[in-house]
Amino acid sequence: MSKNINFSIHTLGCKVNQYESERVAGGLRRLGWGQVDFSSRANVYIINSCTVTAIANHKSRQLIRRALKNNPDALVVVTGCYADSDRDEIAQIEGIGLIVGNEKKSELPRLVAERLGFCKPNGAGEDAIIMPLHTRPLVKIQDGCNQFCSYCIVPHVRGDLWSRPEAEIIGEVSRLVAGGAQEIVLTGIHLGLYGVGAGNDLGELLARLIDIRGLGRIRLSSIELNEVTPKIIELMATSGKICSHLHIPLQSGSDRVLLRMNRHYTATDFIERTGELKEKIDDLALTTDIIVGFPGETEADFADSVRLVEQVGFSKLHVFKFSPRAGTPAADFSEQVPNNIKNERSSRLIDISKRQSAGFAASYIGKNLSVLVERKQGDYLSGISDNYIRVHIDGPEKIAGKLVTVNIAKQEEAVLYGSIKGANEMWV
Ligand code: SF4
Repeated sequence: MSKNINFSIHTLGCKVNQYESERVAGGLRRLGWGQVDFSSRANVYIINSCTVTAIANHKSRQLIRRALKNNPDALVVVTGCYADSDRDEIAQIEGIGLIVGNEKKSELPRLVAERLGFCKPNGAGEDAIIMPLHTRPLVKIQDGCNQFCSYCIVPHVRGDLWSRPEAEIIGEVSRLVAGGAQEIVLTGIHLGLYGVGAGNDLGELLARLIDIRGLGRIRLSSIELNEVTPKIIELMATSGKICSHLHIPLQSGSDRVLLRMNRHYTATDFIERTGELKEKIDDLALTTDIIVGFPGETEADFADSVRLVEQVGFSKLHVFKFSPRAGTPAADFSEQVPNNIKNERSSRLIDISKRQSAGFAASYIGKNLSVLVERKQGDYLSGISDNYIRVHIDGPEKIAGKLVTVNIAKQEEAVLYGSIKGANEMWV
């Protein structure tokens, strides 16, 4: 296989897309191909697209055009959810070489190699990740969603629920650990539905994963309120291996809006359940997603969201302004909220988020945190705590990629600063 081929991948959207891009890139690197930056001249450009909003579609089209401009002779490949939802629209862009839906994404290394006239690479897509490229590698365990939230196109494009076999997940995590990974991030389109229809569940899988020798910690990427089972709570509270961090999408604090969103909980459920989680899991960081300006959201509905956010106390909010996605019920709902109101509500929640993030971080001054050191940043080494706080550390560069205990001395907004507590022969 030629070693003179360069490829570039640009990924939009969720962690599942990021994971899938990494697997495709791993497959292409195994062919001896070089990976270059998207702004460089490459022989192959892959756009792993997203279609969650109209803006995501627009960004996907912009990237396609940028790739064609960088090298008009390149093979430009579009994959991901936009490739599934709007194949005809993409096909009209002159110069596109290949459009590959999510279902065939894992075969991309072979499809691309064949298109360029190379022979079939053996198993290039499978087992491609042997060495972790990131300090906290993603591991996809599930795909698909059957919840049909009224604003979301995902169930229409990602297809049926699918869970990866447990043995395959354990194999991949073991390889990542052997390659030096200390933390793995479990990801899926609807993570809490792992194992549905297969007689398994996320709690059982976690119980198996925590037994992998050498694995420092496991993080869950996002989970729905009703899917944090007693088994998961127990493991989070007692194993010492599952990060004290849950990202639980709220979307709205108004029961009226939640109903129109087709979300299956009430504001009271959210408050009670998260209260229970905080009580049972030490140092728990709760992060969430909120949509502002959902069709029909009144000032009173928004005030409900603000009240809930203040009451629960998150360590970070991801605030999204509602953007109608054609093909979803909410795009056709009446009472669309004007942009200026969406902007104003978004700014108000972002201000609250900044205050809550800083407050959460401040509560650790003078305490110890377990931190995974990621990279050099300015004069410091930068890492992430078990409970998802950015921590800057004074310490030797050889601790990059390691889990260390850090004594927290001070804070600047949501970032903590500290020094390593005691010596650790493992770094030598
Ligand atoms: S749970 Fe709702 S928002 Fe999440 S992927 Fe499924 S339909 Fe979309």
